[in-house]
Amino acid sequence: MTVLPDRVAAKIGSLGTDGCWPWLGYINGDGYGRVAWHRRSTQAHRVVYELLVGPIPEGLQIDHLCRVRHCVNPGHMEPVSQAENLRRGAGPWPAAAINRDKTHCPHGHAYDEVNTIRRSDGSRRCRICNRNQCAAYAAKRRSI
Ligand SMILES: [Zn+2]
Ligand SMILES: [Zn+2]
Repeated sequence: MTVLPDRVAAKIGSLGTDGCWPWLGYINGDGYGRVAWHRRSTQAHRVVYELLVGPIPEGLQIDHLCRVRHCVNPGHMEPVSQAENLRRGAGPWPAAAINRDKTHCPHGHAYDEVNTIRRSDGSRRCRICNRNQCAAYAAKRRSI
């Protein structure tokens, strides 16, 4: 079974050094990739996320950890509520404060300068774990 339909897979560029999957198809004026999906023009990153990860719960928006809007790597996306997305944009928000004292990610990797991805809200994500997740999605992307 093909995880990604050919017409979608063909529009995803090769991995950049930052691990982004650039959308090679149409890019909207807002910077997000678009693709015709179920006869509707849909945000490309949402389509790829749903194909490789699963349905995005109703009402949730996708926050790009990499800040690259036309990137369709599911490992660079997090579904968040609109309120949370706005709050992240406005920062600082409670979760950043709650987790500020943690020195290691849930898998035991240190949150040091090199291994920390800072979200726009100031909260952190482990780079090793993120890379592992990206590798899993990349394998899924290639699998037939
Ligand atoms: Zn990206
Ligand atoms: Zn980790």
